[in-house]
Amino acid sequence: MILQVAVPCPLHETFDYLPPDDGPEPRPGMRVRVPFGRRQLVGIICRVSSGSQLPHNKLRKATEILDQDPLLPEDVLALADWAARYYHHPPGEVLTATLPVALRQGKPAQATPPDWWRVTAEGRAPGAAASLSRAARQQQVLFRLLEAPDGVDAAELADLDGNWRQALTALARKGLVVRCSPPRSATGEPPGLNPEQQAAVEAINSTLGRFRALLLEGVTGSGKTEVYLAALQANLDQGRQALVLVPEIGLTPQLIRRFRRRLPGRQAVLHSGLADGERLQAWLAAGSGEADVVIGTRSALFTPLARPGLIIVDEEHDLALKQQDGFRYHARDLAAVRARQLDIPLVLGSATPSLESLHNCQQGRYQHLPLPYRAGVARPPALHLLDIRGQPLEGGLSRELLKHMEQHLDAEGQVLLFLNRRGYAPVLLCHDCGWVATCSRCDARMTWHQRDRRLRCHHCGHERRVPEQCQDCRSTDLRSLGQGTEQLEQILAARFPEVPLARIDRDSTRRKGTMEELLERAHSGEARILLGTQMLAKGHHLPAVTLVGILDCDQGLFGADFRAPERMAQLITQVAGRAGRAERAGEVLLQTHHPEHPLLQLLLREGYSRFARESLAERAAAALPPFSHLALLRAEAVDAGAPRNFLQEVREHGLQLGQTGVLLMGPVPAPMERRAGRYRAQLLLQAPDRRSLHTLLGRLVPELGKLPSARRVRWSLDVDPQEML
Ligand code: ADP
Ligand code: ZN
Ligand code: ZN
Repeated sequence: MILQVAVPCPLHETFDYLPPDDGPEPRPGMRVRVPFGRRQLVGIICRVSSGSQLPHNKLRKATEILDQDPLLPEDVLALADWAARYYHHPPGEVLTATLPVALRQGKPAQATPPDWWRVTAEGRAPGAAASLSRAARQQQVLFRLLEAPDGVDAAELADLDGNWRQALTALARKGLVVRCSPPRSATGEPPGLNPEQQAAVEAINSTLGRFRALLLEGVTGSGKTEVYLAALQANLDQGRQALVLVPEIGLTPQLIRRFRRRLPGRQAVLHSGLADGERLQAWLAAGSGEADVVIGTRSALFTPLARPGLIIVDEEHDLALKQQDGFRYHARDLAAVRARQLDIPLVLGSATPSLESLHNCQQGRYQHLPLPYRAGVARPPALHLLDIRGQPLEGGLSRELLKHMEQHLDAEGQVLLFLNRRGYAPVLLCHDCGWVATCSRCDARMTWHQRDRRLRCHHCGHERRVPEQCQDCRSTDLRSLGQGTEQLEQILAARFPEVPLARIDRDSTRRKGTMEELLERAHSGEARILLGTQMLAKGHHLPAVTLVGILDCDQGLFGADFRAPERMAQLITQVAGRAGRAERAGEVLLQTHHPEHPLLQLLLREGYSRFARESLAERAAAALPPFSHLALLRAEAVDAGAPRNFLQEVREHGLQLGQTGVLLMGPVPAPMERRAGRYRAQLLLQAPDRRSLHTLLGRLVPELGKLPSARRVRWSLDVDPQEML
């Protein structure tokens, strides 16, 4: 008997081992500890076969089988195998990426009973919370549990600051909370669905039990989530599990609470913020069938499911669904593969679908489910361009925008300002000689963070103190150019001193729990001006927002990437979609220096849907994806010449393989050539059909490591790249 084992190493093959002398009967999907070089690694058995290409005396013996039963079912093994081939990535790295960290390390796959807690009658008594005024953490935990009459999964408390576990134990000792079993019945009532929602739900429900991909294209606030909930309920009624993927930024406590309130059964949540143990428990609950709905971010796609019935990918256009380092897979695309393999429906949802998915609809591969109207009484917001050419600006705000802010604030509205640049200012400049603070490790400027008195590079994380003097001419007249959210916050605080403000960006939410707090202030209406980067732009349902101001929508108009206009249109549409989501109408103002720009005009006059369809026609004319297929080979090294040499050698090697149809373009320097102290270059492969591209890659990639020039670079392959950086 021979075990074919995927070992976490960068080689494009599996390795043959003899089974250990004792232990459980080896089966595919079990973990096994094996000697590898001089190390012991945890691998996964992919196949058990009767023969090996190696002579018997060359085979090493596996050390130990780690599982009594397979951890990964056949379908996940098949999916990983498919992914390793499609992305030309080492199978051992793909397979280990599917496992929670604890399991990769060889820890036992032991499920513990659910860790649910609820408030007791004593805890609910009027004085209980007040009596904890000296124990802030306990009070915080109690408040959280008071909000959830059916109890809370302890994993959900993990976003609280400090030692919440200790606080929970203390509360239990005082008899204020107890451990309980997870609730099985839902408490929330669904709204009556409108005809479009109803049609979408029926279309999905009629495909339960077989494969079909459906694209739910619903304008912001059209009630997509309600459609998911209805389909999830129907799927549950058939006794099946569902997998719901969302981008990291969309996986808010509000969303999870909404699911918990509305769906019966147990939900498991999987995301990167969980501790290893919590992640493991959620993963095991999915695999055993204990959990009915699994909600997670990108990597949750690989979660084993005992009785799968439905996959949903929300915000399917979002870049966060694509892994941008290591094993560069797209969770949306692999979700389609998994759904097909399992023969179950896949629902992709977005207000701003990717051009790829729209193309699939046009080709008849996906069924298109439109939700063209906002749900309930909400009306679409009115969009207007503000021409700011030659206008006086106050911290980036035009007079017109300020005037509108005052009007909306006076009328008790909430104002959301969007500026996709954090920090105080993107440029620190010497007024005497023009010197600009740049990163010593990147071809990039340093961002000035005034509060911390630091300059930070947003590309490599490098930081240093703000200099007192110009580093060229020693002048002390250093000035900032442009605004970031930190500066805008100060300007707004001075301009509207009476109005409470919440700033939401990566800096203001760094501490655990602050994102929650800020969102809570936004939701409750306590904060009247909300200011933020794309963290604030997506997914949030903020019913009191009546005015959205987009400070600078020109950034996306001139991007080097062919997807820049698409991304710009998505971002503008998503931000604008935060306005007027309830009874009161919303207004959106976009400041621009290019009011006549055809892309902006098209987006404003016709909306995202028309914009996307026109963009698709342009892509067709230019033979860009999805009308052709790309792979990007990147290389980087400290030595400036090495990446180019390597890619040149790859190019020549590729040309020799003589695959017709595939264009090899480059090598060229990356748009930001130096980053984190390394020079970077890239080679683009383009083909009119997938097959010729993958035939070439299949022959080329396993050879790359053997090229002499490969030893002097780090290289990586990106199939279907989403960013050309
Ligand atoms: P989306 O996911 O498309 O942004 P949501 O499902 O969050 O939209 O719905 C937006 C708001 O409209 C929510 O407050 C939701 O409760 C409400 N809503 C959704 N569908 C209906 C409906 N059929 N009738 C009334 N309100 C609805
Ligand atoms: Zn100077
Ligand atoms: Zn840098």
